[in-house]
Amino acid sequence: MDIKEFWKGTQIIQSIGQGMDLSYISEEFKENIQFSPRGRVETNEYFQTGVKWFFMGGDIIEGPDVIHGIANGHKAAIGIDNFIQGIDFKAAK
Ligand SMILES: Cc1cc2nc3c(=O)[nH]c(=O)nc-3n(C[C@H](O)[C@H](O)[C@H](O)COP(=O)(O)OP(=O)(O)OC[C@H]3O[C@@H](n4cnc5c(N)ncnc54)[C@H](O)[C@@H]3O)c2cc1C
Repeated sequence: MDIKEFWKGTQIIQSIGQGMDLSYISEEFKENIQFSPRGRVETNEYFQTGVKWFFMGGDIIEGPDVIHGIANGHKAAIGIDNFIQGIDFKAAK
């Protein structure tokens, strides 16, 4: 980078970009999970991934903010319950 000017200041605010650490997910899993062009995991409306028993929510899906994380958790809980009971997701409310 070619720095041409210096500005006097009293505070430095560090701005960081963060990505997901998916190192804990096996390669076999990754092959069955769909990723968006931005690298986020794609799910259905109940946050079920391409691995049917594997639900994901929060920053790994959308946001990043707490409201989405909590809302995803509520919906995923319904999805997990439906999945365990064998209820058709499309019919579920
Ligand atoms: C500096 C900062 C300020 C923010 N301010 C705001 C704000 O003002 N308002 C707002 O709405 N949002 C804010 N956010 C964003 C908010 O914190 C996130 O959107 C929210 O925490 C996402 O929740 P999550 O459950 O998806 O992920 P996280 O809160 O990151 O939870 C993931 C959890 O998984 C754990 N974990 C990771 N890997 C493993 C593993 N292999 N095994 C077991 N556990 C694991 C981690 O330790 C962590 O506890 C801020 C974020 C940052 C970094």
